[in-house]
This record gives sequence, structure tokens and C-alpha cells, in this order.
Amino acid sequence: MRFSRLFAPTLKESPADAEIPSHKLLIRAGFIRKKASGLYDILPLGVRVLLKIERIIREEMNKAGAQEVILPIMHPAELWIESGRWDAYGKEMIKFEDRHGRNYALGPTAEEMITDLVRKEVKSYKDLPLNLYQIGRKFRDEIRPRFGLMRAREFIMKDAYSFHASDEDAEREYWNMYETYSRIFSRMGLQFKAVEADTGEIGGSFSHEFMVIADTGEGKLVFCEKCGYAASTEKAEAVKPQIPENRESLFREIEKVSTPNVRRIEEVSEFLNVPQDSILKLLVYIVDGKPVAVAIRGDKDVEETKLKNVFKAKEIRLATDEEIEKFTGQPKGFLSPINLSIPVYADYSVIPMVNFVAGAGEKDYHLKNVNWERDFKVEAFVDVAEVKGGEPCPKCGNPLTEKRGIEVGHIFKLGTKYSEAMNATFVDENGEEKPIVMGCYGIGVTRVMAAAVEQNYDENGIVWTPEIAPFEIIVIPVNVKNDEIRETAEKIYEELKSKGLDVLIDDRNARPGFKFKDADLIGIPIQVIVGKKISEGKVEVKVRKTGEKIEVPVEEAIERAL
Ligand code: ATP
Ligand code: MG
Ligand code: MG
Ligand code: MG
Repeated sequence: MRFSRLFAPTLKESPADAEIPSHKLLIRAGFIRKKASGLYDILPLGVRVLLKIERIIREEMNKAGAQEVILPIMHPAELWIESGRWDAYGKEMIKFEDRHGRNYALGPTAEEMITDLVRKEVKSYKDLPLNLYQIGRKFRDEIRPRFGLMRAREFIMKDAYSFHASDEDAEREYWNMYETYSRIFSRMGLQFKAVEADTGEIGGSFSHEFMVIADTGEGKLVFCEKCGYAASTEKAEAVKPQIPENRESLFREIEKVSTPNVRRIEEVSEFLNVPQDSILKLLVYIVDGKPVAVAIRGDKDVEETKLKNVFKAKEIRLATDEEIEKFTGQPKGFLSPINLSIPVYADYSVIPMVNFVAGAGEKDYHLKNVNWERDFKVEAFVDVAEVKGGEPCPKCGNPLTEKRGIEVGHIFKLGTKYSEAMNATFVDENGEEKPIVMGCYGIGVTRVMAAAVEQNYDENGIVWTPEIAPFEIIVIPVNVKNDEIRETAEKIYEELKSKGLDVLIDDRNARPGFKFKDADLIGIPIQVIVGKKISEGKVEVKVRKTGEKIEVPVEEAIERAL
């Protein structure tokens, strides 16, 4: 590729709204352009990096036995209604109607779509196991799109889904994917950790997040350098029961407010126009047969797995309306805090003591002006503190290290959540009909590109790892008007190309300093600089990462580049 023809508009300054290095640099170096909030144009350099990332993913997924498919991005509403997520997924899902008035969503994830495909084709245990993946656009109307490709509203994801005749087989595939993900991120040259994680919106029985270590990461993780234990701090729960003194309830100004079917704290906050910090979610769960009201803080719904850990329970499920009525002495919509003894887990330091909103995550089930300890008769609460660096590892006791990270991949063992809801069954060896056991596995392809930059840059620009660099080598003739320099550079360029390397030649008629700046900014790993020393048959080879420069004969430069 010739730089003179390359559509790579570089900039001296980064845009005012870019806060983190990857966002700034990907724009400045001409990889991406912002179209609107959370929407980006990806320019040729960016596409080159993405294709390399995708190639590594495809190779490793195929090697692991998965098969690629392409499913529509337009998801018929019926499938999401069947799984119960049409409403539950919330405002992050973009919905629209076709000309006949039928409802659709732009897929944020594809469990429903794939389960629908598989349920129609798979009949017997002989058709299983199956692991199907796609690499394509996903749409999430993030409440706060930010950091460029890191948290976009339209992005590229590799999503895989596996189907099994037994739980054991699903578990085997889970670890197969765990290994595959580790290979994928290692091949990309990224520093990462697989951490035990929360299962979030998707649900399921257990999961790991793959985190690229970076100070700008939105996630936090702790890990043990001795035994290898690693967890996201959200998941690493230290359960500390506490018994505060009982107080008379002073129930006064609590107001019941009408809300739409909001499930997330962000949504309640938006709707009632109150800060997120002033919202507390109240849910009644049945834990080993006993009702427990749980108040949670945070932007996710209470996870059954998480609660299981907190209560060390075997069985846990949301209470039915009747159970709630019996337990609280109030109809479900009036989950009155006064009568509740609430085991709470949360970081209490962030809950204001006065006038917050308590809600049950359902339509019209919110209470305003609820006051901590005035309206709550707290008998005990379970305080799940974040595990911090320095605290003992739960496995071996060695002090934990704390770092920030970027979630680039996430694997889940789903179990039969979707297959039961959508009636995806198979007939087993004994002729018995059973729900298919599932797993799902995502990688944020565009986010990986940003995360890679977050981990590899310096004051001069991006420093790509060779595996995902847009070009492996750039040949820079310092002066294209000098025939010997130009011709030698062209010769090196052709030779490297003929050896199958991805080469860029900066054939622009520009000052050397200008070319060097662009080469550094774009971050191509190896620079072959053809300058005056060519009269002695020598060129300079510069390693972008270390800045190390060596003068070598032309032939050796070609050899070294290989
Ligand atoms: P996050 O916690 O960052 O919101 P998530 O847990 O909602 O991500 P998953 O549902 O696990 O995301 O999706 C699989 C992968 O897709 C994530 O691990 C991440 O790499 C990527 N991803 C998710 N949301 C976005 C987004 N808005 N922009 C870019 N990539 C994303
Ligand atoms: Mg998310
Ligand atoms: Mg997440
Ligand atoms: Mg996730």
C-alpha cells in the first residue's frame, strides 16, 4: 500500500471529547471518525486491524470446533417475547417497526436468534454438541456511550453459542472456550486476566470475564500472584453480617410513585430525575424456602448466582406475588420498607441516608423519600464489601493485587434458561425429551482494538503488537526526489511485499520529520528508513516499541524485517 493513496487522515490535536488514550489516538492516527454519539466510521487502517483481530478469532474458534454462521441483525420481537427479554432487556435494546407494523429489535446479543435456529434443526442427542458463532454488528443504546470504540452503541462482536445434551458436556465446552479465549488474547499480544465474574443481564450459572489490564479500564479486578486466583471485585464478595441496633420506625413522608416498567437503576434515575446514588432496589427472594428481602446497589439486577454466594444457599428464586404479600403483609406494589427486615448487601458508603427511592424493578413499584434507618427496621444485613488489593486471597491467603481492566470477552454457562423458555429440546439416548444445555461466549472485536491501544502507546502514538498492526512494516524514503533513495525504497517495498508481508511505503513528497511523526503515530512495529546512507548501501531499521535504531545493509534490512 502506498501512503500517497491511503485514506488515513491524521490530526495534530485530539478531539475535545476524547478522554482516554485509545480514543484520542485512534482518531488522531486516522483509524476512526465519530459520526454521532457512540457511532463511528472505521477507516481503512482501522479495518485492517479489525480484520487481523477477526482472523485470529476465526482461526482459534474453528480450531476449537466451532462453526461460523451469519444471522440477521433484525431480530423479530416474537423471539424476545418468548424468552421474556423483550421487556426485561430494557432501554439498551433498539426497537423498531417494519412497514407492516411488526416489531423488531436491532440485536444486542443473539441467544434468542440462535436458539430458534437450533430448536428447529436439532432433534436428537446425535445432533449435539454444536458450537455456532458469528462476527457481526451489535447494537446497544448505552446510557453513556463513551471512550470511542470502547463503549459504543454500534459495535462488532464475536458471539458464539453452544448446545449440549448434558451439563457435563456444556461444562467441557465452557473450558474449551476458556482455553480458546486465552489463546486468542495471547496471540494478539495482550496482557489479560480471566476473572470469575457476575452473569449480568444474560443470566446463567457461572461465568468468566477476560480483562485486558489497563489503568483506564472501567472494571476492577483482584488477583493472586501466588495461586492464580482472579476475580472481578464485584464478584469477590467478603460477607460480613452485622447487627445494628434496632430503631423505632419513623415512617412519615414515603410516597408511592408511578414508574414505567423500569428494571435498571439508570432508568429509574432518568425517569424520576433523581441521582443514581439515591436509588435502592428492593427485591424479595426465596432463599432455601425462606423469603428474604434484599436491597441492592449498583447498575445490575440481583444475580441469582451472586445471591447464592451471599446466602450460601442451594435454592434461590424471585418470590411470587402471593409470597411477597404474605411476607410483607402488603400487596407487591407496596413493598413497604417499614415492615421489612432487610439483609442488604451493598457498599453503604454511597447510599445517602435521606430521601432515596426504593424500587422493586417493576412498573409502579417505586417509593420516594425513603430514609435509611428511619423507615427501615434493619435486623441484619449482609455487607458485601469490595475486595481490595492487599486483602488475603480467598484460596491461599496471599495478599491480592488490584488492577483496573477492560472487559474484552465474556463466557457464560447458560444452562437451560433459553432452551426451556423457548422449548429447544432433544431426544436423549433413552428416548426422553430434554431441554438442550447451552453456553454463550462473546468477544468485543472493536473494543479489543481500543483495548490494545490502551495497553500499547507512548507519547508519540500507538505501538501495535505485530499480530494486529495495520501494516507490519513501513518503508520511509526520506526524500522521494532523490532517485537513489526513492528507487531503493521501492525495491525494498516490492521485495517485502513479494515475501507476503503487509507493507506500507511512505511515498509522499513530504519532509522526513513529518513522515516519521505519522509513522510513529500510526504505530507500525517496524520502520525501514531509507536516507543518505544509501550511498554506502545502508538503511536504518527502527523498532517502534523500543525506539531502537540500527544501520544495516539493504539485504539485512529485508532479512530482519522477515
Ligand atoms: P460492559 O460490562 O462493558 O457493559 P457487557 O458485560 O454488557 O459489557 P457482554 O454482554 O458480556 O457485555 O458482551 C460481550 C462483549 O461485547 C463484552 O465483553 C465487550 O467486549 C463487548 N461489548 C459490550 N458492550 C459493548 C459496547 N457498548 N461497545 C463495545 N463493545 C461492547
Ligand atoms: Mg453492558
Ligand atoms: Mg460486563
Ligand atoms: Mg459481560
